[in-house]
Amino acid sequence: MRALALAGLLATAAAPVPAPMAATPGFDVVVLGARGGIEDGNLSSYLVRPQGDARGVTCDAGTLVQGLRVAEAKGAFEDVRVPAGEGLSRVGYVLKHDIKGYLISHPHLDHLSGLIIASPDDSPKPIYALASVNAEIARSYFRPGPWSNFTDRGAEPRLGKYHVEDLKPGMPTPLAGTAMTVTPFPLAHGGMESTAFLIEHGADAMLCFGDTGADAVEHGDKLARVWAAVAERVRAKRLKAIVIEVSFANDRPDDKLFGHLTPRHLLAELRTLEALTGKGSLRGMPIVVAHIKYALGDTQPQRQILSELQAGNDLGVRFVIPEQGQRLRF
Ligand SMILES: [Zn+2]
Repeated sequence: MRALALAGLLATAAAPVPAPMAATPGFDVVVLGARGGIEDGNLSSYLVRPQGDARGVTCDAGTLVQGLRVAEAKGAFEDVRVPAGEGLSRVGYVLKHDIKGYLISHPHLDHLSGLIIASPDDSPKPIYALASVNAEIARSYFRPGPWSNFTDRGAEPRLGKYHVEDLKPGMPTPLAGTAMTVTPFPLAHGGMESTAFLIEHGADAMLCFGDTGADAVEHGDKLARVWAAVAERVRAKRLKAIVIEVSFANDRPDDKLFGHLTPRHLLAELRTLEALTGKGSLRGMPIVVAHIKYALGDTQPQRQILSELQAGNDLGVRFVIPEQGQRLRF
C-alpha cells in the first residue's frame, strides 16, 4: 500500500512535466580486456549490446575467452541461461551465441589476438573493419603459417568461418544478428590506419575508439572529423558514452607517443568536441579510459592518469578506468 501511495504521489508530482520522449535503454558493456599491451590476457576488448538484449559485438578482440572467464567469475553473465542440451558453459554460450561479430579497429596484435586464438572453437560470424585493416589481417595472420585461414578471404585454403566485411568510412552498416548499426571513422595511429566505431541502437549511440594519436601530434584532422560527425548526437543527449584510449601519462614526450594519447591530449580533444556542442554539453558523459599500458615498473600508471585527467576536467565528464570483467551500463 505504501508503495502504491508513493507511486501515486510521484505520478501526481510528475503530471505537469511534458511527456518525455520514449525511454531509450542505453548500452550494456562488458569489459573483456581493459589494457593496452603488454599484459596478455587483458588486452583491449569491449562487448557492446543494447541493454536488455543479449546480442552484441565486441569492439576489438585483443582478449576474448580469458575476458569472458573473468567476467563470468565476477558475475557479469549471471542473467545468461544456457539452454539445456547445448553442452556449453556460460563462457562458451556467450562466445558462440551472444557475440554476433567483431569490430576490429586496426591490425595490431593487442587488438585481435584473442579472436585469432579463439577461432578454432568459435562459431561463424562476421569480422567488420575498414578495408586496409582487413587486408592486413589477411596478409599477416589468417593464412597458413602463422595460423589457419578461418576467414572467407585471402590465402587458400580458406575455412570460411568468419565472413570478412569491409566497412566504408562514414557509412552506417547493420551489424548482422543484432539490433545495432556501426559507422566507422578512420583514425591516425602513428602511420597505421585505425578506426573509431560509432555504434547505434535506435536513438542511442556510443563511440568506441581504437588506438589513436591526437590531431595536433598526428598533424591531421581525423579526430576533428569524428567530433564533427557526432556533434548533433551530443547536443541531443544521444551519445551515451565514449570508450577512448589513454596509453601513457603526461610525462611521456610527444615524440614517444607512437600514435597514442595522454591525458593532456585527450582533454584537448574533448574540448574540441565541446567547442562544437556548447559549454557544459559533455557534463556527466562517461569517458571510459581504455588501453592504459601495463607497466613493468613498480607502480601502474592508472592512478596518475586518472588524477591528470581529473585535474583538467573542466568539462565535467565522468572518467571511468575500466577493470576486466566489469559490466558497465550507459
Ligand atoms: Zn595499436
